Amino acid sequence: MTIRLDQALIEATIRLKGAGVEFARQDANLLMMDCLKADRDLLFREPERLLTDQEQSVFEELVERREKREPISHILGKREFWSREFIVNSHVLDPRPDTETLIELALTEMPDMEKPYRVLDLGTGSGCILLTLLAERPKATGVGVDISLDAMKVASANAENLNLENRTSFIEGPWFANVDGKFDLIVSNPPYIPDAVKGELQPEVREFEPHLALFGGEDGLDCYRHIISNAQSYLCGGGWLGFEVGIHQAQDVQKLMQIEGFRDISCANDLAGIARCVFGRI
Ligand code: GLN
Repeated sequence: MTIRLDQALIEATIRLKGAGVEFARQDANLLMMDCLKADRDLLFREPERLLTDQEQSVFEELVERREKREPISHILGKREFWSREFIVNSHVLDPRPDTETLIELALTEMPDMEKPYRVLDLGTGSGCILLTLLAERPKATGVGVDISLDAMKVASANAENLNLENRTSFIEGPWFANVDGKFDLIVSNPPYIPDAVKGELQPEVREFEPHLALFGGEDGLDCYRHIISNAQSYLCGGGWLGFEVGIHQAQDVQKLMQIEGFRDISCANDLAGIARCVFGRI
């Protein structure tokens, strides 16, 4: 049976809505664009276009995966972050708009386009934080650390895609364990979800994202404690330590930084008004 493009989109949207997908129509569009290897315009320009059998079966497969709540980024293999495209798979945390708050704050702490800033990103995952900062500051160099080799492969591929491989290196290991040298800026979006909240997460997160990248111990603060108490010897004088934090964690993280002697501690909200970043310098 042949089906029109617009009809296929309506049917897919209904199915995705029924499966609890939040932005069902938007996701149906993205899946169709991927299936037809077409841009968004086509969906509006040729709504009456008939799908071939082959296209129908590919689209059906994609919709089925999304119905099972596989993240759209995993199905498409990519996610946009700070206007650049990043490869994403099940080994890395899906880059989120919340994390762009950290980018904004970090860039204000490295204002000089000509300065060869040295940046360390702890738990780099897809590399979205490190690579965005390096892309925005053409003289900067950086190191991305991750305990997962599979994640580092994704970050390396992203570095290559963005032509940043010459200014980036990656180190496998837990936090500072294999890191040498001093940095102007250390950033991290560590796993911060309290273990007990696991049951409340959306299926996309709970069932498809790497748990290693999500959970931060009983109160979610384990990684902050470790990083804050070890960071000083890896920072240049006046160097910044900047974190993304989970909801209701900003005050605790600020306090941990104060206790360790950090100064000029500041906090920034994300677009939803949630305190999302904490920065301080030594
Ligand atoms: N640095 C990556 C990001 O912000 C991965 C963070 C993580 O795995 N917790 O998306």
